[in-house]
Amino acid sequence: MLENQLLKIAQDFGSPVYVYDAEKIEYQYKRLTNAFKTVKSLKINYAVKALSNISILKLFNSLGSGIDTVSIQEVQLGLAAGFTPDQIIFTPNGVSLNEIEEAAKLGVKINIDNLSILEQFGTKHPKTPVCIRINPHVMAGGNANISVGHIDSKFGISIHQIPHILRIVENTKMTINGIHMHTGSDILDIEVFLYASEILFETAKQFKNLDFIDFGSGFKVPYKPGDIETNIEELGEKLSAKFNAFCKEYGKDLTLAFEPGKFLVSESGNFLTKVNAIKQTTSTVFAQVDSGFNHLIRPMFYGSHHEIINISNPKGRERFYTVVGYICETDTFGNNRRINEINEGDVLCFKNAGAYCFSMASNYNSRFRPAEVLWYNNEAHLIRKRETFDDIINNQIEVNFASKKEKQLVK
Ligand SMILES: *Cc1c(COP(=O)(O)O)cnc(C)c1O
Repeated sequence: MLENQLLKIAQDFGSPVYVYDAEKIEYQYKRLTNAFKTVKSLKINYAVKALSNISILKLFNSLGSGIDTVSIQEVQLGLAAGFTPDQIIFTPNGVSLNEIEEAAKLGVKINIDNLSILEQFGTKHPKTPVCIRINPHVMAGGNANISVGHIDSKFGISIHQIPHILRIVENTKMTINGIHMHTGSDILDIEVFLYASEILFETAKQFKNLDFIDFGSGFKVPYKPGDIETNIEELGEKLSAKFNAFCKEYGKDLTLAFEPGKFLVSESGNFLTKVNAIKQTTSTVFAQVDSGFNHLIRPMFYGSHHEIINISNPKGRERFYTVVGYICETDTFGNNRRINEINEGDVLCFKNAGAYCFSMASNYNSRFRPAEVLWYNNEAHLIRKRETFDDIINNQIEVNFASKKEKQLVK
């Protein structure tokens, strides 16, 4: 998307506003499918939690993608967006047996990552096939909060507990139709991923009725010019070869599945904010924007980097700014960033604002959550209205307290 197109959207729809470029999403989707073109059966299940607007889901549906969901509400959202149940996989962690049964009743694929739940589910529903989430104990991923494959992680069933799984399967006569892993976000080293995949293949050999192997996700995207990213093309070539060889050995063409969120939508997103004020202090120049970690929590939550550019003055002289929000706590988007000269009223664009941005937004400080716009076919489509005061007050229930005066009368 061009900077003047973004600027026009900020003018037309107000700020703050999230803008997603449909073409970029499509490009990433095709890049991924292309990297695995030698695999006979490939299934991409977009991870809904990254960005869950129904129009984004419909876009993925139109591309032929399935979806990966982590709550019953995401399952319902997927169905509302037009996905058929068999295009939806439910991969929750720590939810009740009840919620899993609800999803199974809707006909979606079930992924279980807990021995106790596996046993209970298999005992009650031996005819419903399930996929199991394995924890291969391979450390991948950047920040400790987004790395989920390590030994003390709450995710998955440990590879050391495979005998337990086999015992449950034998006792309940349930069918295991898939093996899954998801080792965390921001994979940098392809060899580590391939090593984890070897563990998954070894595990898969012990289950005779598989339809698919799901390698999860965690592909890293670049956050700034020159930044490293997961080399999808190289991973595609190497993993496809291993997978095809495994299918031969297994005696069946299985489906290779992935469930990326960030890789598919991160770079499509731009978050536009307006500069309320410039504040010169003795140590830095603050640019204070009309948003905060209520709308974009990633920098404060896990230190992620979002490039910030001034789309109102792209040719201005570069200066150093600390870009902060309006929340009444430390609320820093970027420290000492080199940005084209900022004036009050300018529109700043935060890059990589597609994944885990709007979907993590809140009403903290009783602020409205932003509008969302999809740029599609060279046109801006509003896909979520900015909230209004009604959204803040709607579910609140008022208690009528006696006034001080009335209390005195009672005495
Ligand atoms: C969050 C999540 C994903 C998506 O991860 P990305 O890093 O956004 O690609 C995939 N699978 C599961 C089970 C997840 O919880």
